[in-house]
Amino acid sequence: MHDDAAPRMHAVTTENEAVVDLVLEYSRNRLTSRDVPLDKPMSPAELRRLALPAITEDGIGAAKALAVFEHVLAPACITTDHPRYLSFIPSAPSKAAAAFDIVVSASALYGGSWLEGAGAVHAENEVLRWLADEFGLPSGAGGVFVQGGTLGNLSALVAARDHARGLGRSPDRWVVVCSAEAHSSIASAARVMDVDVVAVAPDAGGVLRAEGVRAALDEHGDRVFAVVATAGSTNFGIVDDVRGIAGVTTARGVWLHVDGAYGLAAMLSPRRRGLFAGVEHADSVIVDPHKWLFAPFDACALIYRAPEHARRAHTQHAEYLDTLTETTDWSPSDFAAHLTRRPRGLPTWFSLATYGAGAYRVAIDAAIDLAEQVGAVVEQRPELALVRPPQLSVVVFERVGWSRADYDAWSARLLDRQLAFVTPSSHGGRPNARFAIVNPRTTLEDLTSILDTMR
Ligand SMILES: *Cc1c(COP(=O)(O)O)cnc(C)c1O
Repeated sequence: MHDDAAPRMHAVTTENEAVVDLVLEYSRNRLTSRDVPLDKPMSPAELRRLALPAITEDGIGAAKALAVFEHVLAPACITTDHPRYLSFIPSAPSKAAAAFDIVVSASALYGGSWLEGAGAVHAENEVLRWLADEFGLPSGAGGVFVQGGTLGNLSALVAARDHARGLGRSPDRWVVVCSAEAHSSIASAARVMDVDVVAVAPDAGGVLRAEGVRAALDEHGDRVFAVVATAGSTNFGIVDDVRGIAGVTTARGVWLHVDGAYGLAAMLSPRRRGLFAGVEHADSVIVDPHKWLFAPFDACALIYRAPEHARRAHTQHAEYLDTLTETTDWSPSDFAAHLTRRPRGLPTWFSLATYGAGAYRVAIDAAIDLAEQVGAVVEQRPELALVRPPQLSVVVFERVGWSRADYDAWSARLLDRQLAFVTPSSHGGRPNARFAIVNPRTTLEDLTSILDTMR
């Protein structure tokens, strides 16, 4: 190692100013480019061949490293905010949110404790408060931005079980009740927590109803520490009967968690608000701003009705943390299974402040409209059939007569020709195609041109 390694890396020198300029210039170009290609993955062998080793004892320099990123690595990453990226749940950060993410990095902000990050935490809490109001949660509600919905669900369920233990319950096994169509992260949380999942069959339309939840509670009684209602299933964008389910959980004194990682954003749309009646009764909710609230990866807003339950479940204690844990300050670390954290809610704060909440409602409505429109086109085409009518912005449909291999070949062709990224999905053992729409730059023409390739 060079003796001057640290000063060289950290000092404000002409060399480092040039490094910063180079990176900001690249970022500026990426953020203001009108036609970033869709791109596609490469094999490990190809990448090994093209991306020559960058890590050497003396460094290859910023210009060379950035060139490797720009010409080899970035093209091997699918552009998740491309308007014809329609797989999984796409990403569509607003310009303000994406740009402000750079500021969060540049400012070396620490978002774990009030002591260190009061200003950042204040702004994040402003966003959480706004969301809590939209969801009808009481004034005491609060929480934290965590990495993603998986960690949000896990943290909420840990708080729920801790709450049940606090009520003096100690069953032989703990049980979480959810829909059979709930997201895989619920099962993942249950594995981590070593608890059992009771998956209740939804109705034919994919909606988990109160009756199913009531029957599960009758059967499993005191073992049940939480019921999860999905507010916008990932596969179909279908919202469970939250109001009906909340009636049951309230009557039985069971924690209600609403997993709205993708779909709860649609509660901001006056058009779909009614679907989410009952969310105001939730003990905890999540929504991922990196999905349908136009934030960059990664951010999940986790909100508790009564945050003190989460604080009791999650606060880490250690001698070196005493200064933090012996105060009543609002420290985001205390509300989930994490400690060090980036204040990842700030891009959303800046974007909301820049454009206003109304712009969010308009952008969310646009995706819902588009899903409705493309659903109608699917219904008109004899070779296509909707699997279920879209409720939010996910459209699932079949190409009559196609096998899984046909869908796979079609999907690979679309990506190969850089037309679109649409991965095949399936329901009830039958293969299908699925559009998940969140990007306001996606047009009906984008979607119909993809449908044209299925003729
Ligand atoms: C995406 C999703 C999750 C998981 O969120 P991540 O941010 O990917 O961890 C959980 N639940 C639902 C309903 C989702 O759509």
